Amino acid sequence: MSQSEDNLLKKVIAHAKEYGYVFPSSEIYDGLSATYDYGQYGVELKNHLKQYWWQAMVRMNENIVGIDAAIFMHPTTWKASGHVDAFNDPLIDNKDSKKRYRADQLIEEYVSKIENKIAKEEGKAAKRFGDAFDLDQFRGTNPRVLQYQSQIDSINQKLKESIEQGALQDLKALIEELGIADPVSGSRNWTDVRQFNLMFSTELGSVAGESGKIYLRPETAQGIFVNFLNVQKTGRMRIPFGIAQIGKAFRNEIIARQFIFRMREFEQMEMQFFVKPGEELDWYQEWKEKRMKWHQALGLGSENYRFHDHLNLAHYANAACDIEFKFPMGFKELEGIHSRTDFDLKAHEQHSGKKLQFFDPSEDKSYVPYVIETSIGLDRLFLALLSKSYTEETLEDGSERTVLKIPAPLAPVKAAILPLVNKDGLPEKARQVFDQLKYHLLCQIDFKDAIGRRYRRQDAIGTPFGITIDHQTLEDDTVTLRDRDSMVQERVQITQLTSVLLEKCSLQQLLKQL
Ligand code: ATP
Repeated sequence: MSQSEDNLLKKVIAHAKEYGYVFPSSEIYDGLSATYDYGQYGVELKNHLKQYWWQAMVRMNENIVGIDAAIFMHPTTWKASGHVDAFNDPLIDNKDSKKRYRADQLIEEYVSKIENKIAKEEGKAAKRFGDAFDLDQFRGTNPRVLQYQSQIDSINQKLKESIEQGALQDLKALIEELGIADPVSGSRNWTDVRQFNLMFSTELGSVAGESGKIYLRPETAQGIFVNFLNVQKTGRMRIPFGIAQIGKAFRNEIIARQFIFRMREFEQMEMQFFVKPGEELDWYQEWKEKRMKWHQALGLGSENYRFHDHLNLAHYANAACDIEFKFPMGFKELEGIHSRTDFDLKAHEQHSGKKLQFFDPSEDKSYVPYVIETSIGLDRLFLALLSKSYTEETLEDGSERTVLKIPAPLAPVKAAILPLVNKDGLPEKARQVFDQLKYHLLCQIDFKDAIGRRYRRQDAIGTPFGITIDHQTLEDDTVTLRDRDSMVQERVQITQLTSVLLEKCSLQQLLKQL
């Protein structure tokens, strides 16, 4: 991480805490690592993000419905899904720094450094050749780029083979062969690679021991699979159709760093789309495009997203990619899109002895559907939004402000109602405006301090609109409406205020772009 990226993350963390977005969990006891609480504004933003996702999935697609399954599930679920046997991370420790890393990630980071070198060569060449530059030709002929690329291909091939074969000693050998050093200490003194299961377990009721062992779900997806038939039958759903769910998931992450990016308790928004076998790769493409569009409608800049196609496919997938986002610490996974084949439903059929099939009248036969999964981490989305919204500005008069430029439909507080002075009947008028708006939008009334300071406070919270009540308001029933980003003020009739704000703050502003 460069210094400015590191600084930005630190600033975002400090701002999130100071302005009631995210607090360290149980802070009075010095916190619990990789666990965070959402504060009074954080919970609002999180709820709006959930609504944006839920409405885009469930409301805008007539063939997608939602459920809310329990966090605890029958323990056999996790045997069937493969999590008991295979939900492991390959870990490696540095003996000098005592830091622990995921072995595959160390190698992937090494590869991404070589990719950066290629990008640099391309940038230089593009400058040199100007309009005549042909990127494909350059990539196919430039000796240095070709050498980098073959290096990448060879590393990826070795990584893929050792993961697929579970050859932990080969992973370590690759790390040593590449001379990968601990990013913190620079030391190359590594332990062997070991597997570590990420599921939390506890005991059910009074039953102790293995027989009473149950798990906190490490993903929400399985709650959808086990309800496949319930939903299909009661909703009279026909293939293709989807089931969406938002809920908590738990993973005993060993390397839990980087704020809410990687937590032990987090929230997922997942949708499983059931399709006819053979059609899954077309649907996979379609969902890749749809999900990217959904992200880009947030307006955080299309250059901040990219696809990362998986080379090392999980045991259940026949195609998979991530949507990566440019977080303060670089491009990282925000959402996963997987073509999961019929792996899960078939495994649940085998373990439960129940048929999990769809009778297709057009084919006059039953089959186990294939599944396309879209899975996004709500907390990562929150961090993406917060870090791109965080802006430090110097204004024309030389003063400075920190503003969270959160899109109005997602902002926690939609409008701050600010009487210019705390007398002359202005506070009472402010109260009337609040009472008019409170049925529709979350607003705040702020009486304290000079008006400039109140604006700054609302800018820092990310409130998109300021409504100022002044003496003219008492005469003609108008207020000034200040836009957070442009700081332009316009006069609006109080009778118009609700509809003006509802229009600007509606989620439709985002959903219409999909
Ligand atoms: P990573 O490789 O970063 O560990 P993953 O590939 O294991 O992620 P998935 O199992 O595909 O993640 O989970 C789907 C989504 O859930 C991820 O794209 C991410 O946004 C989110 N997610 C996964 N683990 C965590 C975590 N520990 N904290 C916060 N969000 C997470």
